[in-house]
Amino acid sequence: MKICTSITDLRQSILDIRVKMQKPTIGFVPTMGFLHEGHASLIKRARSLDDVVIVSIFVNPLQFGPNEDYNRYPREIEQDEKLCEGLGVDLIFAPTALEMYGADGCETSIHVAYLGDHLCGASRPGHFDGVCTVVAKLFQIVTPDRAYFGKKDAQQWRIVRRMVKDLSMPVEIVPCEIVREEDGLAKSSRNVYLSPEERQEAVHLRKTLLLIQDAAIKGQRDVKQLKSLALAYLADHPLVALDYLELVDGDTLQPCAAIRGEAPTLCAIAAYVGKTRLIDNIELELRA
Ligand code: AMP
Repeated sequence: MKICTSITDLRQSILDIRVKMQKPTIGFVPTMGFLHEGHASLIKRARSLDDVVIVSIFVNPLQFGPNEDYNRYPREIEQDEKLCEGLGVDLIFAPTALEMYGADGCETSIHVAYLGDHLCGASRPGHFDGVCTVVAKLFQIVTPDRAYFGKKDAQQWRIVRRMVKDLSMPVEIVPCEIVREEDGLAKSSRNVYLSPEERQEAVHLRKTLLLIQDAAIKGQRDVKQLKSLALAYLADHPLVALDYLELVDGDTLQPCAAIRGEAPTLCAIAAYVGKTRLIDNIELELRA
Protein backbone atom coordinates (compact mmCIF):
# COMPACT_ATOMS: atom_id res chain seq x y z
CA MET A 1 0.00 0.00 0.00
CA LYS A 2 1.36 3.39 -0.98
CA ILE A 3 0.55 6.65 0.77
CA CYS A 4 0.58 9.78 -1.38
CA THR A 5 0.36 13.25 0.05
CA SER A 6 0.78 15.22 -3.17
CA ILE A 7 -1.53 15.38 -6.18
CA THR A 8 1.42 14.87 -8.55
CA ASP A 9 2.58 11.75 -6.73
CA LEU A 10 -0.93 10.27 -6.67
CA ARG A 11 -1.46 10.97 -10.39
CA GLN A 12 1.88 9.34 -11.23
CA SER A 13 1.11 6.30 -9.04
CA ILE A 14 -2.27 5.84 -10.75
CA LEU A 15 -0.62 6.17 -14.15
CA ASP A 16 1.93 3.50 -13.18
CA ILE A 17 -0.88 1.18 -12.08
CA ARG A 18 -2.81 1.77 -15.31
CA VAL A 19 0.28 0.88 -17.36
CA LYS A 20 1.10 -2.20 -15.26
CA MET A 21 -2.42 -3.66 -15.07
CA GLN A 22 -4.59 -4.03 -18.15
CA LYS A 23 -7.45 -1.54 -17.97
CA PRO A 24 -8.01 -1.85 -14.22
CA THR A 25 -11.21 -0.49 -12.70
CA ILE A 26 -10.56 2.01 -9.95
CA GLY A 27 -12.76 2.10 -6.85
CA PHE A 28 -12.58 5.24 -4.72
CA VAL A 29 -13.63 5.78 -1.11
CA PRO A 30 -13.47 9.45 -0.04
CA THR A 31 -13.27 9.90 3.75
CA MET A 32 -12.27 12.41 6.40
CA GLY A 33 -10.33 9.72 8.28
CA PHE A 34 -10.62 8.48 11.86
CA LEU A 35 -11.82 5.36 10.12
CA HIS A 36 -14.29 2.90 11.65
CA GLU A 37 -16.32 -0.09 10.50
CA GLY A 38 -18.63 2.14 8.47
CA HIS A 39 -15.70 3.27 6.32
CA ALA A 40 -14.38 -0.32 6.30
CA SER A 41 -17.64 -1.56 4.78
CA LEU A 42 -17.22 0.90 1.87
CA ILE A 43 -13.62 -0.20 1.36
CA LYS A 44 -14.64 -3.89 1.41
CA ARG A 45 -17.35 -3.23 -1.16
CA ALA A 46 -14.82 -1.44 -3.37
CA ARG A 47 -12.35 -4.30 -2.91
CA SER A 48 -15.03 -6.76 -4.04
CA LEU A 49 -15.99 -4.81 -7.18
CA ASP A 50 -12.84 -3.05 -8.36
CA ASP A 51 -9.27 -3.99 -9.32
CA VAL A 52 -7.69 -1.03 -7.56
CA VAL A 53 -8.91 0.61 -4.35
CA ILE A 54 -7.98 4.17 -3.45
CA VAL A 55 -8.99 5.81 -0.15
CA SER A 56 -8.67 9.53 0.46
CA ILE A 57 -8.25 10.89 3.96
CA PHE A 58 -8.85 14.61 4.04
CA VAL A 59 -10.67 16.79 6.54
CA ASN A 60 -12.06 19.26 4.06
CA PRO A 61 -12.18 22.81 5.47
CA LEU A 62 -14.64 23.93 2.76
CA GLN A 63 -17.46 21.84 4.18
CA PHE A 64 -17.24 23.13 7.76
CA GLY A 65 -19.04 26.25 8.95
CA PRO A 66 -17.13 28.90 10.98
CA ASN A 67 -18.47 27.59 14.31
CA GLU A 68 -18.18 23.92 13.50
CA ASP A 69 -15.63 21.32 14.56
CA TYR A 70 -12.99 21.57 11.79
CA ASN A 71 -10.13 22.17 14.22
CA ARG A 72 -11.07 19.49 16.70
CA TYR A 73 -12.27 16.88 14.17
CA PRO A 74 -10.51 13.64 15.26
CA ARG A 75 -7.42 12.75 13.23
CA GLU A 76 -5.54 9.45 13.64
CA ILE A 77 -3.67 8.84 10.41
CA GLU A 78 -1.46 5.97 11.61
CA GLN A 79 -4.43 3.96 12.82
CA ASP A 80 -6.21 4.73 9.52
CA GLU A 81 -3.23 3.47 7.54
CA LYS A 82 -3.23 0.18 9.47
CA LEU A 83 -6.94 -0.34 8.85
CA CYS A 84 -6.54 0.38 5.12
CA GLU A 85 -3.52 -1.93 4.87
CA GLY A 86 -5.50 -4.74 6.51
CA LEU A 87 -8.34 -4.28 4.03
CA GLY A 88 -6.09 -4.46 0.98
CA VAL A 89 -6.24 -0.80 -0.04
CA ASP A 90 -3.78 -0.03 -2.84
CA LEU A 91 -3.31 3.70 -2.40
CA ILE A 92 -4.09 6.25 0.29
CA PHE A 93 -4.33 9.88 -0.70
CA ALA A 94 -3.79 12.07 2.37
CA PRO A 95 -3.14 15.65 1.25
CA THR A 96 -2.91 18.76 3.40
CA ALA A 97 -5.37 21.60 2.89
CA LEU A 98 -2.49 23.58 1.38
CA GLU A 99 -1.86 20.84 -1.17
CA MET A 100 -5.54 20.69 -2.10
CA TYR A 101 -6.37 24.38 -2.25
CA GLY A 102 -3.04 26.19 -2.42
CA ALA A 103 -2.08 29.22 -0.36
CA ASP A 104 -4.63 31.43 -2.12
CA GLY A 105 -7.62 29.15 -1.49
CA CYS A 106 -10.33 28.14 -3.89
CA GLU A 107 -11.74 30.65 -6.38
CA THR A 108 -13.92 28.15 -8.21
CA SER A 109 -16.50 25.98 -6.50
CA ILE A 110 -19.57 23.89 -7.13
CA HIS A 111 -22.95 25.19 -6.01
CA VAL A 112 -25.76 22.81 -5.18
CA ALA A 113 -29.20 24.42 -5.60
CA TYR A 114 -32.40 23.06 -4.01
CA LEU A 115 -30.95 19.74 -2.89
CA GLY A 116 -28.27 21.49 -0.87
CA ASP A 117 -30.55 23.99 0.87
CA HIS A 118 -32.77 21.90 3.09
CA LEU A 119 -32.38 19.05 5.61
CA CYS A 120 -28.71 19.29 6.67
CA GLY A 121 -28.17 22.16 4.23
CA ALA A 122 -30.59 24.37 6.19
CA SER A 123 -28.53 24.24 9.39
CA ARG A 124 -25.17 23.94 7.59
CA PRO A 125 -25.28 26.62 4.86
CA GLY A 126 -22.67 25.98 2.17
CA HIS A 127 -21.88 22.53 3.51
CA PHE A 128 -22.87 20.65 0.36
CA ASP A 129 -21.12 23.18 -1.88
CA GLY A 130 -17.97 22.32 0.07
CA VAL A 131 -18.64 18.60 -0.19
CA CYS A 132 -19.29 18.72 -3.93
CA THR A 133 -16.28 20.94 -4.61
CA VAL A 134 -13.90 18.56 -2.85
CA VAL A 135 -15.52 15.43 -4.29
CA ALA A 136 -15.40 16.85 -7.82
CA LYS A 137 -11.75 17.79 -7.31
CA LEU A 138 -10.95 14.34 -5.92
CA PHE A 139 -12.72 12.71 -8.89
CA GLN A 140 -10.54 14.79 -11.22
CA ILE A 141 -7.41 13.62 -9.44
CA VAL A 142 -8.31 9.96 -8.82
CA THR A 143 -10.33 9.33 -12.03
CA PRO A 144 -12.33 6.49 -10.44
CA ASP A 145 -14.77 4.18 -12.23
CA ARG A 146 -16.82 3.81 -9.06
CA ALA A 147 -17.05 5.89 -5.89
CA TYR A 148 -18.47 4.52 -2.67
CA PHE A 149 -20.59 6.54 -0.27
CA GLY A 150 -22.41 5.58 2.93
CA LYS A 151 -26.18 5.80 3.19
CA LYS A 152 -25.61 7.24 6.66
CA ASP A 153 -25.16 10.55 4.86
CA ALA A 154 -28.44 10.18 3.00
CA GLN A 155 -28.46 13.66 1.51
CA GLN A 156 -24.76 13.61 0.63
CA TRP A 157 -24.76 10.53 -1.59
CA ARG A 158 -27.88 11.67 -3.40
CA ILE A 159 -26.35 15.12 -4.00
CA VAL A 160 -23.12 13.58 -5.27
CA ARG A 161 -25.13 11.26 -7.54
CA ARG A 162 -26.97 14.31 -8.89
CA MET A 163 -23.72 16.26 -9.41
CA VAL A 164 -22.31 13.34 -11.38
CA LYS A 165 -25.42 13.31 -13.57
CA ASP A 166 -25.60 17.10 -13.98
CA LEU A 167 -21.92 17.48 -14.86
CA SER A 168 -21.63 14.22 -16.86
CA MET A 169 -18.86 12.83 -14.71
CA PRO A 170 -17.87 9.31 -15.78
CA VAL A 171 -18.22 7.78 -12.29
CA GLU A 172 -20.73 5.31 -10.88
CA ILE A 173 -21.89 6.19 -7.37
CA VAL A 174 -22.33 3.13 -5.16
CA PRO A 175 -24.39 3.76 -1.99
CA CYS A 176 -23.55 1.38 0.88
CA GLU A 177 -25.67 0.34 3.87
CA ILE A 178 -25.32 2.02 7.28
CA VAL A 179 -23.10 0.23 9.78
CA ARG A 180 -24.31 0.51 13.38
CA GLU A 181 -23.15 -0.07 16.93
CA GLU A 182 -24.80 -2.98 18.74
CA ASP A 183 -27.48 -0.73 20.25
CA GLY A 184 -28.34 0.78 16.87
CA LEU A 185 -26.39 4.06 16.94
CA ALA A 186 -24.94 4.72 13.48
CA LYS A 187 -21.15 4.54 13.59
CA SER A 188 -19.59 7.95 13.17
CA SER A 189 -16.20 9.54 13.72
CA ARG A 190 -18.02 12.16 15.80
CA ASN A 191 -19.29 9.58 18.32
CA VAL A 192 -15.99 10.03 20.21
CA TYR A 193 -17.18 13.47 21.27
CA LEU A 194 -20.00 11.93 23.34
CA SER A 195 -19.72 11.60 27.11
CA PRO A 196 -20.86 8.21 28.50
CA GLU A 197 -24.24 9.69 29.39
CA GLU A 198 -24.64 11.32 25.97
CA ARG A 199 -23.58 8.09 24.29
CA GLN A 200 -26.50 6.32 26.00
CA GLU A 201 -28.93 9.00 24.92
CA ALA A 202 -27.63 9.06 21.32
CA VAL A 203 -29.46 5.81 20.62
CA HIS A 204 -32.75 7.73 20.64
CA LEU A 205 -32.12 9.04 17.11
CA ARG A 206 -32.36 5.48 15.82
CA LYS A 207 -35.22 4.67 18.19
CA THR A 208 -37.19 7.65 16.86
CA LEU A 209 -36.75 6.38 13.31
CA LEU A 210 -37.84 2.87 14.33
CA LEU A 211 -40.91 4.31 16.04
CA ILE A 212 -41.89 5.99 12.78
CA GLN A 213 -41.11 2.83 10.84
CA ASP A 214 -43.33 0.83 13.20
CA ALA A 215 -46.24 3.27 12.91
CA ALA A 216 -45.93 3.24 9.10
CA ILE A 217 -46.05 -0.56 9.06
CA LYS A 218 -49.17 -0.39 11.25
CA GLY A 219 -50.78 1.81 8.60
CA GLN A 220 -50.12 5.42 9.63
CA ARG A 221 -49.41 7.34 6.40
CA ASP A 222 -49.88 10.93 7.54
CA VAL A 223 -46.57 12.76 7.92
CA LYS A 224 -47.89 15.26 10.51
CA GLN A 225 -49.11 12.39 12.70
CA LEU A 226 -45.85 10.51 12.32
CA LYS A 227 -43.86 13.60 13.23
CA SER A 228 -45.91 14.34 16.34
CA LEU A 229 -45.40 10.76 17.47
CA ALA A 230 -41.66 11.32 17.17
CA LEU A 231 -41.75 14.69 18.93
CA ALA A 232 -43.69 13.19 21.83
CA TYR A 233 -41.07 10.45 22.13
CA LEU A 234 -38.18 12.91 22.04
CA ALA A 235 -39.85 15.12 24.65
CA ASP A 236 -39.03 12.33 27.12
CA HIS A 237 -35.36 12.51 26.14
CA PRO A 238 -34.32 16.12 26.75
CA LEU A 239 -30.61 15.45 26.13
CA VAL A 240 -31.50 14.95 22.47
CA ALA A 241 -32.18 18.39 20.93
CA LEU A 242 -33.84 17.95 17.56
CA ASP A 243 -32.43 19.88 14.60
CA TYR A 244 -34.84 18.37 12.09
CA LEU A 245 -36.96 15.32 11.47
CA GLU A 246 -38.29 15.11 7.92
CA LEU A 247 -40.08 12.62 5.75
CA VAL A 248 -39.09 13.20 2.14
CA ASP A 249 -39.27 11.53 -1.23
CA GLY A 250 -36.44 9.00 -1.31
CA ASP A 251 -35.28 10.09 -4.78
CA THR A 252 -35.85 13.83 -4.96
CA LEU A 253 -35.71 14.67 -1.22
CA GLN A 254 -38.85 16.80 -1.69
CA PRO A 255 -40.98 16.92 1.47
CA CYS A 256 -44.10 14.77 1.38
CA ALA A 257 -47.38 15.17 3.27
CA ALA A 258 -48.21 11.50 3.21
CA ILE A 259 -46.35 8.28 2.62
CA ARG A 260 -47.33 6.73 -0.67
CA GLY A 261 -46.70 3.06 -1.33
CA GLU A 262 -45.46 3.56 -4.89
CA ALA A 263 -42.52 5.89 -4.06
CA PRO A 264 -39.76 5.28 -1.50
CA THR A 265 -39.88 7.55 1.54
CA LEU A 266 -36.81 8.58 3.46
CA CYS A 267 -37.10 9.58 7.09
CA ALA A 268 -34.08 11.66 8.10
CA ILE A 269 -33.16 13.00 11.52
CA ALA A 270 -30.46 15.33 12.86
CA ALA A 271 -30.10 16.16 16.53
CA TYR A 272 -27.63 17.56 18.99
CA VAL A 273 -26.69 15.29 21.85
CA GLY A 274 -24.88 17.70 24.12
CA LYS A 275 -22.77 19.72 21.68
CA THR A 276 -22.43 16.92 19.15
CA ARG A 277 -24.59 16.98 16.04
CA LEU A 278 -25.56 13.49 14.91
CA ILE A 279 -27.55 12.33 11.87
CA ASP A 280 -29.37 9.15 10.96
CA ASN A 281 -32.05 8.02 8.52
CA ILE A 282 -34.21 5.13 7.43
CA GLU A 283 -35.71 4.19 4.09
CA LEU A 284 -39.22 3.36 5.24
CA GLU A 285 -40.59 -0.12 4.71
CA LEU A 286 -44.37 -0.25 4.64
CA ARG A 287 -44.68 -3.96 5.34
CA ALA A 288 -43.30 -5.94 8.26
P1 AMP B 1 -16.70 10.70 6.65
O1 AMP B 1 -15.32 10.25 6.95
O2 AMP B 1 -17.56 10.86 7.86
O3 AMP B 1 -16.75 11.88 5.70
O4 AMP B 1 -17.38 9.51 5.84
C1 AMP B 1 -16.79 8.99 4.68
C2 AMP B 1 -17.78 8.05 4.03
O5 AMP B 1 -18.07 6.99 4.94
C3 AMP B 1 -19.11 8.72 3.68
O6 AMP B 1 -19.56 8.24 2.43
C4 AMP B 1 -20.01 8.26 4.80
O7 AMP B 1 -21.37 8.21 4.45
C5 AMP B 1 -19.47 6.87 5.06
N1 AMP B 1 -19.86 6.43 6.40
C6 AMP B 1 -19.62 7.06 7.58
N2 AMP B 1 -20.18 6.40 8.61
C7 AMP B 1 -20.81 5.33 8.07
C8 AMP B 1 -21.58 4.27 8.61
N3 AMP B 1 -21.85 4.18 9.91
N4 AMP B 1 -22.08 3.34 7.76
C9 AMP B 1 -21.83 3.42 6.42
N5 AMP B 1 -21.11 4.40 5.86
C10 AMP B 1 -20.59 5.34 6.65
